[in-house]
Amino acid sequence: MIEPANTIVCVDCGGTCHLLTYPPEDGLWEPGDIVTYRCQDCTDRWDIVLTEEDVPDAEQDTTHW
Ligand SMILES: [Zn+2]
Repeated sequence: MIEPANTIVCVDCGGTCHLLTYPPEDGLWEPGDIVTYRCQDCTDRWDIVLTEEDVPDAEQDTTHW
């Protein structure tokens, strides 16, 4: 299961970009879905393609030996 971040950091100005795209009706995001962010500081728009790696925090930790 993957999920886009609610906000990302703007590559241009370092400001906060907020998610504009609404979740699918069934709440299930798919790899390849495009989500749009708008920067609150410079109003740039960013289109991000979701990948398998866009999982919520708990999934991102790798196991350490
Ligand atoms: Zn910006």
